[in-house]
Amino acid sequence: TRTVTEFDRVTDSVCPFCGVGCQTKVYTKDNKIVLVDGRDGPANENRLCVKGRFGYDYAMSKERLTKPLIRREDAPKRGDADMRFMDPLDIFREATWEEAMERAAGGLVSIRDTHGGGALAGFGSAKGSNEEAYLFQKFIRQGFGTNNVDHCTRLCHASSVAALLEGVGSGAVSAPFMDALQSDCVIVIGARPATNHPVAATYLKQAAKRGTKLIVMDPRGQDLMRHASHPLRFKAGTDVALLNAMLHVIIEEKLYDAQYIQANVDGFEALKAKVADFPPESMAEVCGIEAETIRDVARTYATAERSIIFWGMGVSQHTHGTDNSRCLIALALITGHVGRPGTGLHPLRGQNNVQGASDAGLIPMMYPDYRPVETPDIRAEMEDFWGRPLDPKKGLTVVEIIDAIHEGEIRGMYIMGENPAMSDPDQIHARAALAKLEHLVVQDIFLTETAWHADVVLPASAHAEKLGTYSNTNRQVQIGRPALDMPGEARQDWELIVELANRSGLDWSYDGVADVYEEMRQVMPSLDYIPWERLEASESVTYPSKPDGEEQWVVFDDRFPTADGRGRIVPADLRAPDEVPDDEFPMILTTGRLLEHWHTGAMTRRAEVLDAIEPEGIAAMNPREIARQGLKEGSTVSVETRRGTIEAVLRADREVADGMIFVPFCFNESPANRLTNPMLDPYGKIPEFKFCAARISAASMR
Ligand code: SF4
Repeated sequence: TRTVTEFDRVTDSVCPFCGVGCQTKVYTKDNKIVLVDGRDGPANENRLCVKGRFGYDYAMSKERLTKPLIRREDAPKRGDADMRFMDPLDIFREATWEEAMERAAGGLVSIRDTHGGGALAGFGSAKGSNEEAYLFQKFIRQGFGTNNVDHCTRLCHASSVAALLEGVGSGAVSAPFMDALQSDCVIVIGARPATNHPVAATYLKQAAKRGTKLIVMDPRGQDLMRHASHPLRFKAGTDVALLNAMLHVIIEEKLYDAQYIQANVDGFEALKAKVADFPPESMAEVCGIEAETIRDVARTYATAERSIIFWGMGVSQHTHGTDNSRCLIALALITGHVGRPGTGLHPLRGQNNVQGASDAGLIPMMYPDYRPVETPDIRAEMEDFWGRPLDPKKGLTVVEIIDAIHEGEIRGMYIMGENPAMSDPDQIHARAALAKLEHLVVQDIFLTETAWHADVVLPASAHAEKLGTYSNTNRQVQIGRPALDMPGEARQDWELIVELANRSGLDWSYDGVADVYEEMRQVMPSLDYIPWERLEASESVTYPSKPDGEEQWVVFDDRFPTADGRGRIVPADLRAPDEVPDDEFPMILTTGRLLEHWHTGAMTRRAEVLDAIEPEGIAAMNPREIARQGLKEGSTVSVETRRGTIEAVLRADREVADGMIFVPFCFNESPANRLTNPMLDPYGKIPEFKFCAARISAASMR
């Protein structure tokens, strides 16, 4: 623990970055954060990673938006022009709040009244609080009469959630990551916790140190493999081959739990028939792992007393992402490794509140608590509660909304804290869509790449300036508290949503954040027995809670939350990625994060320490591959796909497989998503960020 002597206030809060949900103490002096330290929260026990500890100063950046902005009549045409070096006042003029809100709401209402609510859409944010997410989706649904509301969960775990809802009736984790300490076997697949969930990774390393078998499966090497009993670097895009081969072994060698299956699971016979075609001896060549290793890993997982599976975007961000997750669910269901401490299924959530934002209904097919919008009884209940007729059909998802703008179907958008100009695949296409909108309202703390396209920009509140609840990857609801005053004329996000709603013809009145939370609880049974006062007193409560207050850290101990209480196996077929390397584009491009930067970089690139450690856009390749291609480490290279080209500094990295290029997606000067394939998984509607065909060359030689 570090010490600081000069401070005038200490605020108990939570980290604004990843889904681990570390509790923090924020020390401030003269309305500036001077230190952030860990608290003894259930997910971090005083620990913090480099982002939580040193990434706080973005909130105090000189680049914060402090006044409402309106696009000037004579501003340059919106589009894909690189506006980073332009003066914002060449594009926007400062406005009063009255004028900005009138313009913001007026534009949205005009489109609604002329073309119908279906011509509008909203992107909320998993960085915001549960209360903001709830209000945002309520505004879009109640105020515009459309379900066109989504957020970046569509880009991270949508396929995992689709498979989990189908298989076990709930998209949330079945056990917290700390349960790794009670496991005999831990599988980590398609996730890099040491980079993306660093404090969670410490629990996994601790488990391995105590003797837990740690199976790490990833086409790229990673830090956690040094601690693994079984490090498996399989070929990118062959997850189903590897996992079906494991299922084959477990069934062939009768290592499954017949009693558990009979009592709790449907679909075993169909799975048995499917995986009969996946013997490890045939799959070894496909996935690049020896047959005997596949057999060893399958036996280790199945025969352990308690096994748990963690996965991340390496599993989900594929056109076969739902199939990948279906295989993981099948592994847990046929071995009975679920519903007990130390067992389960845990998709590691990326953003600090991606779990909570999805729970709160910030998705186009579900109301709060995953109640389908297309079920008449449920819709009638919500219409009664919100007092307005609601859209009977599910809305469009993130990438579908971008396509619908190009088709002229969507004409106006309200975007809060989301940055699709950086985060969407096929970025040129996405930015062209934003440029095409008749009316775009962006609410944010910085003039992001998305805000450059706006008609009205509303300066909002940073995490360190607001009160709200956040739900981490473990289903722990925690309170974030304001440590700083807002700069200039910036306002609270939740108040801006309320004002826009009222200017759009609604009649909302809330007596603060706690009031919003209590309204949420009326339509979210998952928050039963967790009133605001309990959160304030406990700091962290895991949902669901029993009436006596007992928190259910492990769920599915009795039955699954499906219609008949049983789990359902859906066998998966092996399908190739949508775009495979060929003569023209012979390499595989994959994208991801760096330890120091978070998502589109809007926050961490404005955090001085973090940006000093990783200051520029890179493309990483194995040194062997660099030599083979006659390239030079440290030089500027061009990375090209069928969708676009970027330039980046070439980094030698032994963790990157031969034939592969890794590009992190946080650098706006080397935007990875200009390259990525927007093709969607048919179930989760998630794009294939993790695999497409690419080529690389020395920039100066082009
Ligand atoms: Fe923040 Fe995640 Fe790091 Fe914890 S592990 S300090 S929540 S970024």
